[in-house]
Amino acid sequence: MANSGLSQNEAQRRLAEYGPNALPETPPEPGWRRFLRQFQSPIIYILLFALAFDIVAWASEGGQGLPLESLVIAAILIINAGLGLYQEGRAGAALEQLKAMTTPQVWVWRDGQLVHIPSPELVPGDLVRLEAGDRIPADGYLRQAQGVLVDESILTGESVPVDKGQGEELKSGTVLVRGQGALEVNATGPKSAMGQLAGMLGGIELEKTPLERRVEVFGNQVAIAVLILAVLIAVLGLSLEGLDHFQSVLLFAVALAVAAVPEGLPAVLTLTLALGVERMASRKAVVRRLSAVEALGSVTVIATDKTGTLTENQMQVRELLSDKPERALLAMVIASDAEVGLEVGDPMELALYDYAAGQGLDPKEIKNRYPRVDSRPFDSEWKFMRVTTNENGKTTSLLKGAPEVILQRCRLSSTELERWQNTAREKAAQGFRLLAVAEGDGSGEENLQFLGLIALWDPPRPEVPEAIRKAQAAGIKVVMITGDHPATARAVADAVGLPPGETVTGESLESLSDQELQQLMSRANVFARVNPEHKLRLVEALKNQGQIVAMTGDGVNDAPALKRADVGVAMGQRGSDVTREVADLILLDDNFATIVAAIEEGRSIYENIQKFIRFLFATNLSEILVIVLGYVGAFALGLRDQAGAILLPLTAAQILWMNLITDGLPAVVLGLDKNPKMMDVPPRNPNAPLLDRLSLAFVLFAGVAKGAVGLLLLWILPQRGLSLEATRSAVFHVLVIGQLFYTYAARVAHEIPPNNAWVHAAVAGGIAIQLAVAFVPAVGETLAVTPVSAEGWLWISGSLIVILASVFVFTSVLRHRFLERRA
Ligand code: ADP
Ligand code: MG
Repeated sequence: MANSGLSQNEAQRRLAEYGPNALPETPPEPGWRRFLRQFQSPIIYILLFALAFDIVAWASEGGQGLPLESLVIAAILIINAGLGLYQEGRAGAALEQLKAMTTPQVWVWRDGQLVHIPSPELVPGDLVRLEAGDRIPADGYLRQAQGVLVDESILTGESVPVDKGQGEELKSGTVLVRGQGALEVNATGPKSAMGQLAGMLGGIELEKTPLERRVEVFGNQVAIAVLILAVLIAVLGLSLEGLDHFQSVLLFAVALAVAAVPEGLPAVLTLTLALGVERMASRKAVVRRLSAVEALGSVTVIATDKTGTLTENQMQVRELLSDKPERALLAMVIASDAEVGLEVGDPMELALYDYAAGQGLDPKEIKNRYPRVDSRPFDSEWKFMRVTTNENGKTTSLLKGAPEVILQRCRLSSTELERWQNTAREKAAQGFRLLAVAEGDGSGEENLQFLGLIALWDPPRPEVPEAIRKAQAAGIKVVMITGDHPATARAVADAVGLPPGETVTGESLESLSDQELQQLMSRANVFARVNPEHKLRLVEALKNQGQIVAMTGDGVNDAPALKRADVGVAMGQRGSDVTREVADLILLDDNFATIVAAIEEGRSIYENIQKFIRFLFATNLSEILVIVLGYVGAFALGLRDQAGAILLPLTAAQILWMNLITDGLPAVVLGLDKNPKMMDVPPRNPNAPLLDRLSLAFVLFAGVAKGAVGLLLLWILPQRGLSLEATRSAVFHVLVIGQLFYTYAARVAHEIPPNNAWVHAAVAGGIAIQLAVAFVPAVGETLAVTPVSAEGWLWISGSLIVILASVFVFTSVLRHRFLERRA
């Protein structure tokens, strides 16, 4: 394209003048509003109401001293909201970073060079190179157009794509579905069509994942059950105690509700997903929807492209088989769209130029000597392309495409036809990608003169065989889907270690019934000469079998299949904007092995989520047991505080404190665990409950063990001479420190994860804080903690050892039972 575009300096100047080619950012929610949002939960409302009531009661009694408990509760709530705010901010930052990784890029001429820049840097006057699959990045006019077909449905609602010729206008946001062109930009950012249609492009979707919704529903159910329980207790308490102690009964009921509801769960969940996604990104897999993490963890089939995903897409012409080599070379250069000398475009076409240059031709000079008068762009649907040019005053067409397609259109004797077909099959069986070239008069596409066969070599990626082995060990089937020749496809499949299986062509799928297709799917693992519609049918067949499908795609027409797949996978380097926009996962390196890595991370993230869910529910269960049964026990024994109210086994502030210490750091660090051998087990059943059997067993055992020991201490310690306050403090320490140690127990699932320094730090930190509460009177006082005697500490240590030993024995039995069942 004889054009130099803007100079880099001019582009800089214009960028400053017109601003970036992006939609104006919605201003971020102010910090105070986000902080207030942390209090938006029914439980917190009730707690705030109880607090207000407490303070009013204190004031109406003359405001003696400080309402210490209320102040402490308020402080804990504020710290808790701060923690929530931090977690939210951290998750948001991680996702922002991912968004930046998937900013659309465009090819633009600057100073006579084609450069790849982020689309926001486009300015009016820029000349943009467009090819099939690009979303038009800004408004402008076509300075050049070859077979340009544009889908304008986003603006007009009209789903039939329209032809656009040179000089016609293109609006940003529409999609080039076919052809190639050069766009001169005249409006960017808010001034462009997209500017008026805000919020369409790219970005990470922040809608709640199914997992988050499930957790939310579950959390609400727990909350409702607990509220009912709390109301019942309040009514019971009031009827036994009379209205005199309304205040203490109310505060107790609220404390119970707080104890039982895992307030920290949603924030920890989002943070864990976000940090997991960040880890995935460091392995070059960028997730565009948090929900994909879950689906990734349960993928059962990977349906992958061949070219560029299993192979390097570093094409090289190995052989030109031709009776008319000069004409064949000419066709290779003329019937190609890649930019000569700029290394921009289809790697296969660049390889053709390289080869022609190696044979002594000058591709650039040839392109100039034979200007295009007409063309038909390449499309996976018809698998060839044509360029019509003028040669010595005569119009000729040069074509290149898949050999079957080109041979069909040639004038050849049947022996000749057979000879070429056999050669093609032979070369394909050796793993070569094949092209055929032909020429014809005028702009005809039939009755052509056959010019030759080109065998290209595209080396398999070295990481792929290991990744395929890993996928298989993990119970995941790998299927190759390609537009290439069946023999080429099979040869490459063998080279990368795909197991033997049937090779099927797209055409043969057409005559199959859905049922026959299903059966075929269990035998076949290579699908060749497939077009995008076949691809859609294949995803559907797989999904009907109950498979969870990850499918890759690069062409514009692949978008429907990617959308249909459970995990649509697009390429970060190669491939179209349109596929990237519908994809759940983007491979920054286009590499198959990265899909397997993402699945491994997806499984690991899910495992970590299960860990902190069972950890949190074990805490809650033990708290409920101690509080409810302790309260009933105190009533039965007639234990009362100085004011004459029934003695609470734990104060409201202590319960909140416990939740702050355990819902916060320990749960977060569990989300950071690295899990070994995630790829040694079959995929998780996507319908399995979040609290699976192992988790449920853990919650019950660990919750009851700690609750029971706490209750026993409430009973025994007063008999050993400890005051009621000291007893309560001792139980408080056991519950908190025991829970901190449960962080370790909750990590043990099917495998024992390696050391996690974060876990040590969180547990040690938590214990240090709790010891400060125990031994620094000024700190202890705020939580109604009194000093515990040496004997008391012996009991505390002994109880902790008993609880932890029994829980560790229990989890290791569970683990062995699980391993046995698997073996
Ligand atoms: P895939 O990329 O999965 O191999 P395609 O549909 O892109 O599938 O290609 C199918 C066949 O079409 C290729 O095997 C090749 O013979 C031919 N082909 C691919 N790209 C071009 C192109 N740019 N010009 C002409 N023919 C092509
Ligand atoms: Mg292709």
